[in-house]
Amino acid sequence: MEEIRTENALPVSQATLVCAASIDEAMTAARDIAAAALCTGPEPRPCRQCSHCRKVARGIHPDVIILGRLEDDKGRPKREISVDQIRDLSADSCILPNEARRKVYIIREAETMNIPAQNAALKLLEEPPLGAVFLLCTTNPSQLLPTVRSRCTRIICGTAAGEQDKELESLAEAYLKAAASGSRAKLFGWCSSNEAMDGRRAADFVDCAMERVGDMLCGRKKDLGLSSKQLTDIYALLQRCAAYLRLNVGVKHIFGLLAVDSISGSGNRG
Ligand SMILES: [Zn+2]
Repeated sequence: MEEIRTENALPVSQATLVCAASIDEAMTAARDIAAAALCTGPEPRPCRQCSHCRKVARGIHPDVIILGRLEDDKGRPKREISVDQIRDLSADSCILPNEARRKVYIIREAETMNIPAQNAALKLLEEPPLGAVFLLCTTNPSQLLPTVRSRCTRIICGTAAGEQDKELESLAEAYLKAAASGSRAKLFGWCSSNEAMDGRRAADFVDCAMERVGDMLCGRKKDLGLSSKQLTDIYALLQRCAAYLRLNVGVKHIFGLLAVDSISGSGNRG
């Protein structure tokens, strides 16, 4: 999945699954990501000051398109998002943006897309039109096809994951503290004491750490003194690690990468 970067701001992937315990929470996070993707103000983005940020916040940005279940004739929401809605969205995404550099599509309750709609969405996510950004908001990602999920970067806000493995959480916390300390020795020490982890556990750890960083970027967890640039870099690094683990790259290499690239300033691709 190609990643669009908004110069050092929140890394905006072309397809993101925004998971939260409530749909409102997911939509709030999605609006923040949309603003970051369109923002032309100073960093950190979203700046919340430029005309794009202000329009997104007021819900009147012409290049942020929100799609959800339609209403029936009695004003009640229909059960599903239909394939026609996704086809319309797909056609629209080929049209140039009105004001911003790109268009952002937010799909509310993405899990209510029926199967044909999900398959249409999958096609779109596999070959997204240049510059279009898709944010799939959901409280229940398991109801989406695995193929759809796997095309998306995942951001988990708040307590969506339910009861997390406490040990994984403290591992993620220890890793982020080591990264925040700015001490390479500390970070190397932490990485080398964990590199014997098995691949599955390492993947869970990376997921958990990404979730934590996502929470920090959403402002839901304390940032441990990490700037949004640092958090963004760490998030991108963890995304790389997750991709490598899926390719069965050895855990030692993953922890080696974390040891070298988690502290900005040297050896970091930025
Ligand atoms: Zn802005």
